[in-house]
Amino acid sequence: RLSKRLETVASFIPKGATLADIGSDHAYLPCYAYLHGYIIKAVAGEVADGPLRSAKQQVEKAGLSHIISVRKGDGLAVIAPGEVDCITIAGMGGTLIANILEAGKNKLSGVKRLILQPNVGADIVRKWMMSNDWELIAERILKEDGRIYEVLVAEKGDGKKPYVNMKAELLLGPFLLKEKNDVFLEKWRHELEQWKRIVRQLAEKGETESALAKKRELEEKIKLVEEALQ
Ligand code: SAM
Repeated sequence: RLSKRLETVASFIPKGATLADIGSDHAYLPCYAYLHGYIIKAVAGEVADGPLRSAKQQVEKAGLSHIISVRKGDGLAVIAPGEVDCITIAGMGGTLIANILEAGKNKLSGVKRLILQPNVGADIVRKWMMSNDWELIAERILKEDGRIYEVLVAEKGDGKKPYVNMKAELLLGPFLLKEKNDVFLEKWRHELEQWKRIVRQLAEKGETESALAKKRELEEKIKLVEEALQ
């Protein structure tokens, strides 16, 4: 059985897609996507040898070597322009996901949908989307094994469309903020607690310039999130 996290990612793959799963590791996602009829073909990209081996083994074990091409390379370097129409990148930090997309921009023509699952730093992914005219069309937040995950889905378009209160929505997610489900509230209440604790620690530390700057930055974020959650 696939994790709820990856199942959620897979649920957004359009039927009949050609997929690139970047940082595929065990290649569970493309195997599942094919076996459940989402995709007709896939590339599983991996930069590291261990995960690359386990991807190859998994694809062979599933008898899908003719469907899923396992390739070694950095980010989108493993695909040719126009080769796929859907890209998934899951289980990495938002900064790395944004860097991979930025470095592989020339491979994105012909790609209709991005499904991204940052473990942290979803705001960095949303900002990248906005600067590059990818329109966020759906978001999910879920909890599995005590960890909270976000899934962001985008299509080519006007990157600015879903945003009204831009600063708060880039941080929290416009769809997630509207929905305000229990997992979302748990995540942000926890973040607020942590930020407030750091602010107290910084205050005790004294008034060095960098401590003050950090404290101000956190206080601003706290205010933004508290107002958004009201
Ligand atoms: N996508 C799978 C998932 O969500 O379960 C695996 C996530 S795993 C934590 C992250 C994987 O990304 C690792 O196997 C790592 O080797 C790979 N990775 C990291 N940077 C990468 C890059 N620039 N290009 C391709 N793969 C990368």
